[in-house]
Amino acid sequence: MKINWQKEDLKHIWHPCSQMKDYEELPPIVIEKGQGINLYDINGKEYKDVVSSWWCNLLGHCNPVISKRLKEQADKLEHVIFANFSHKPVIELCMRLQKLLPKGLTKFNFADNGSSAIEMAMKLSFQYFQQTGFSEKKRFMALSDAYHGETIGALSIGACDLYSKIYKPILLDVIRIQAPDCYRCPFNKNRQNCNCECFCDCEKQFEKYGAQTAAILVEPLLQGSAGMKIYPALYLKKLREICDKYNVHLILDEIATGFYRTGKMFACNHANITPDIMCVSKGLTGGYMPMAIAITTDKIYNAFYDEYNTHKAFMHSHTYSGNPLGASCALGVLDILETGEIQKHLAEVTPYFNNLIKEKFLNHKNIGEVRSIGLINAIEIVKNKNTKESFDSKLRTGYQIYKKALKKGVLLRPLGDVIYFNPPLIIDKKDMDYVTNIAFECLCETLDN
Ligand SMILES: *Cc1c(COP(=O)(O)O)cnc(C)c1O
Repeated sequence: MKINWQKEDLKHIWHPCSQMKDYEELPPIVIEKGQGINLYDINGKEYKDVVSSWWCNLLGHCNPVISKRLKEQADKLEHVIFANFSHKPVIELCMRLQKLLPKGLTKFNFADNGSSAIEMAMKLSFQYFQQTGFSEKKRFMALSDAYHGETIGALSIGACDLYSKIYKPILLDVIRIQAPDCYRCPFNKNRQNCNCECFCDCEKQFEKYGAQTAAILVEPLLQGSAGMKIYPALYLKKLREICDKYNVHLILDEIATGFYRTGKMFACNHANITPDIMCVSKGLTGGYMPMAIAITTDKIYNAFYDEYNTHKAFMHSHTYSGNPLGASCALGVLDILETGEIQKHLAEVTPYFNNLIKEKFLNHKNIGEVRSIGLINAIEIVKNKNTKESFDSKLRTGYQIYKKALKKGVLLRPLGDVIYFNPPLIIDKKDMDYVTNIAFECLCETLDN
């Protein structure tokens, strides 16, 4: 029997973050295999995956080192209950990862997706203060335009209306701090040399609410879903200081930024700070298996450590906590990162890619800003360069470009009117040239007539 895969897909599957009616015009692309930065559909058509399949594919599809780890582990142990039981891959992962973490992060709580790691971080922080004599600390702070995932707690912390607006009545009441907005800086400063004048709103909110706040959650240096908005490391340094002053936990969501996405192992390395809790996920297993970790300090851990009947334990569990297959893939990622080859490659190709994109796009009449950090490059499309006014969102300019690029074999998937590149770290110069040219072509076809 010949199966029409697209038709069967639409009959059964409700795809994530999609208006399914869009699929009438653009049906799902059924992928058969992947190799490096390439994906191949069931008709053999090639797609350059420059969004790393939602930012998680770190080192290319079907990476031989990671695949080997996964296959070997699958024949040994696929999963085991993680309460009172453990296994070598997950222990080794913690030992090796800890060496790469900012000093002071020592205790690893496992989950199986980013949102769950955020929920764990929130619960850990809240419970910590309940158990250490600060029962008034019940609230959370976060930045405007933040994105931290889509479960109810994580969605509350986030502030992208697109995802959360309709759920407002059932979300937590989070204290909102005006995030840095360097492209449209209200102080008319420049992110390269400003003094983070915009931090004043943070100071104001801490003064007012610091005493009732358990933690502030932020995406360090890069607000991804907000449109790859980049802000200075100095802002993080100031955050660390103010959190210490007001006894508020600093929770860094490194889910999108970890594992060299910003050029360093973690975004917080740019600011030389240690958060009280760090959440990692996307790059952790190289995009192979769902795994996330909320990593914290001895200080927080110790506040939960007591006789069972004191009820101080962290009674939180996920069935797939510490899954051996995920841990083995993560070991494969570390095998590769520890050789230093990727870092050398990045040092060579990052300036090349960033210049290439600036040169190609910046002069176009509708490009407001080209911003980059690590291999992440974002191109903000505006209606008017002088006023920085955006196009009417109903035009779905970014989406038009996305569709054109797909036809030409490049997977871009913009965020609103921000086109971005966030490719696997192994991308070479030839592919950089290729995807930049195609993206520019599609942008011109969309905007220039
Ligand atoms: C993707 C992402 C999350 C959520 O992770 P999921 O695995 O999709 O639940 C949270 N925070 C940031 C910054 C992310 O990019």
